[in-house]
Amino acid sequence: MALVKFKGTRKVYDGGVVAVDGATFTVHDSELVVLVGPSGCGKSTTLRLLAGLETITEGTISIDGLEVNDIPPKDRDIAMVFQNYALYPHMTVYDNVAFGLKLRKYPKKEISRRVSRAAEILGITDILHRKPKQLSGGQQQRVAVGRAIVRKPKVFLFDEPLSNLDAKLRVQMRAEIAKLHRSLGATMIYVTHDQVEAMTLGDRIVVMHEGVIQQMDTPLGLYNAPANAFVAGFIGNPPMNLIIGRIERLGGPVFLSASGLVRLPLAFEDSQLPRNGGDRSIILGIRPEDIYLASNNSLPERTSEVEFVLVLTEPVGNEVFLHVRAGDDQLVARLAPQEMPEPGIVIRLAVDLDKIHLFDAATTTSLGAHASVR
Ligand code: ADP
Repeated sequence: MALVKFKGTRKVYDGGVVAVDGATFTVHDSELVVLVGPSGCGKSTTLRLLAGLETITEGTISIDGLEVNDIPPKDRDIAMVFQNYALYPHMTVYDNVAFGLKLRKYPKKEISRRVSRAAEILGITDILHRKPKQLSGGQQQRVAVGRAIVRKPKVFLFDEPLSNLDAKLRVQMRAEIAKLHRSLGATMIYVTHDQVEAMTLGDRIVVMHEGVIQQMDTPLGLYNAPANAFVAGFIGNPPMNLIIGRIERLGGPVFLSASGLVRLPLAFEDSQLPRNGGDRSIILGIRPEDIYLASNNSLPERTSEVEFVLVLTEPVGNEVFLHVRAGDDQLVARLAPQEMPEPGIVIRLAVDLDKIHLFDAATTTSLGAHASVR
């Protein structure tokens, strides 16, 4: 289908807002790449630049080796599905799906063939005669996707297509989009602010923050080796715990939090640690599932115990989130469901030393993860 390349692509809007700051990444043929990041980080703009709905300030975008900077949107062979579906209210579902093909003067028979096929794939054959206002949110979503499918574009773009649906339908439609991607084998770029959606859908994920690409990797690659503290705190639910402190040499290297209450020996190779570690602020990262009750009798091989005050327990059924603090240092631990004591008591937790990440506090860049999590 298509290979999409962004190279130093930059977008500055009138008024000086830098929405996308030097994006360089490649979307391979048949790949589903998700752009994810908080609201305002430049995801939609990146997509709109590719669709040709915004002009590129600097850099290039190419599709199959052809630079498209100056090619009008209609000639880029791209179909986009928006958050608000943008269906024509006075047209039937059939006519909505067929509209783009009619505009391009496809023969009636071919239009009918393509609409029927898309309707079959999406399970909307029996509603082709209805008008959009007679459809549920999920059905409207399918019609919007159908309109994209019939065009057989080189690239599909999805801009937060599920955010108007309720939680249950979102999960269902997410699975349908994944299925659609597999069956069409199409190149797709999908924008969302929801990291769970990104993790479950993407072959690879681009994490953006303030117009800048932070990291591009597979879902597990991002989870296991976040390139910086932003990615570490964004991917994962609950997110990775991040504690600021410094490294002391007490025999071996030891992390000491700013409050002095969290002290953890570091099972890292010396080459991974900053030389003048004592003077440098360091952020230690540990995922909630790598923290245990010290009383647990099947702890991982190397752990270290820390005392915390229990602040809050959140039982969510299949697991329980424990919010604890030691001075200003706050952590969340993710445990198997069990009865927990009342908040306010002191509890001892065991941190898996082989699951620790370290980040430079000044640049937030990863200094590396322990070998066991890389
Ligand atoms: P996201 O999709 O990640 O929420 P956007 O790409 O929509 O982010 O926006 C990125 C930044 O560009 C934001 O600061 C936003 O306010 C700004 N922006 C978006 N569209 C325009 C526009 N048409 N004119 C000026 N600024 C814009």
